[in-house]
Amino acid sequence: MIKTRFAPSPTGHLHIGGARTALYAWLYARKHKGHFILRIEDTDHERSTKEYVDAILEGMQWLGLDYDEGPFYQSERYEHYRAIAEQLISKGHAYRCYCSKERLEKLREAQMANKDKPRYDGHCRELNLADLTKPHVIRFRTPDRDEITFRDQVYGVINVENTELDDLVLIRTDGIPTYNFAVVIDDLDMKITHVIRGDDHINNTPRQINLYHALNHKPPIYTHVPMILGPDGKRLSKRHGATSVMQYRDEGYLPEALLNYLVRLGWSHGDQEIFSLQEMIDYFDVAHINKAPAAINPDKLLWLNQHYLKTSDPIHTAKQLAWHMQGIDTSQGAKLADIVVAQAERCKTLVEMAEKSQYFYQDFAEFDPKAAEKNLTTDIVPGLQAVLNQFKQLATWEQEHLHQIIIDTAERLALKLGKLAQPIRVAVTGNTMSPPLDITLKLLGRERVLTRLQKAIDYIK
Ligand code: GLU
Repeated sequence: MIKTRFAPSPTGHLHIGGARTALYAWLYARKHKGHFILRIEDTDHERSTKEYVDAILEGMQWLGLDYDEGPFYQSERYEHYRAIAEQLISKGHAYRCYCSKERLEKLREAQMANKDKPRYDGHCRELNLADLTKPHVIRFRTPDRDEITFRDQVYGVINVENTELDDLVLIRTDGIPTYNFAVVIDDLDMKITHVIRGDDHINNTPRQINLYHALNHKPPIYTHVPMILGPDGKRLSKRHGATSVMQYRDEGYLPEALLNYLVRLGWSHGDQEIFSLQEMIDYFDVAHINKAPAAINPDKLLWLNQHYLKTSDPIHTAKQLAWHMQGIDTSQGAKLADIVVAQAERCKTLVEMAEKSQYFYQDFAEFDPKAAEKNLTTDIVPGLQAVLNQFKQLATWEQEHLHQIIIDTAERLALKLGKLAQPIRVAVTGNTMSPPLDITLKLLGRERVLTRLQKAIDYIK
């Protein structure tokens, strides 16, 4: 069975680069009816926090990237890693190193001064020291000869001489495993078949493969995903705007828009731009991941977001919209799903939609001054009054009737339709922008419309 995993370190929020890696690993597992695993790599106790763990879990949930196993926490498995390190020592694949920080520092300085690559010189390699009372680390005995070759699904064949590699630390003085060690043990225990991760780990891969060999196992298949750049071609950072997934939620994006956006950031399927989740699963293939880093394109994300505002199930979108309308009681009046349908055409984000939909649920404090000056003028009072009188007579509150009354009144008073419609719009919404007037009136409901028309007439007078 194919098994992939996402293994974030909880030292920050779920970044869109991480989310894209997670999405690729998730798609690969779903496509092959395998398992997707979430593993929290929380061995850095200084920088890992519960808050970030929660933020990652929340981000995964919001995106809908569900996992079949986990979340696992590396911090709960320290005994296990230590036991395996001991086994490696007993088999001659690892050794205890007692070199002091000072010695390592001096060594480093000397190597740097010589323009050599800083690395451990193997001082404790053959000493076979085993004093458990003295502070020490456990180091891997990197094979002296041979080279490591692997085929990365994106980068192709990669070759590294073992003489290039250091004797890496497996267990630190404090008993905590290093990333390279824990990741291998976990990927083995969790039976991961395909490792899909950021290309910042490509240099770690040969070291990890050495560990697989020492443990007598075949390494998984590796796919290293190129990084994401800002629109200016520089490494993506906060100054480019939102970088965390939850920030995108806060800015009014739909999860399906962000997923669609992320899947295309570095992967393509012909020139198709819009993918349903099922299409992503069906078409996703690591072979079509682009080797060149991808630059974010905020306009494209906005375009996709509007596409999904218009086409996603309005009931689903309404739930997201409700979150953005916090503080406003949307239980009375129009259904939020109907608001979504009415507004999607003129909104690119849910934040915008929430702002532009408040008047459906809450009285506005005042008319937009410019809109009022232009549209709420003395000459329009008879028109507003006539419409108000007829609206009052209506037995039911139907779009067609509302529409007809406005047309008839305009004709009777010899007004162009817009000359009457726009003042009505300003009267009932406070502004000049809204969905088509009959829909707006229908959604506002009788009571709000009648009260607001009267208020506008009083205001003009
Ligand atoms: N914890 C590592 C990271 O967040 C995971 C790397 C990996 O997937 O092996 O970069």
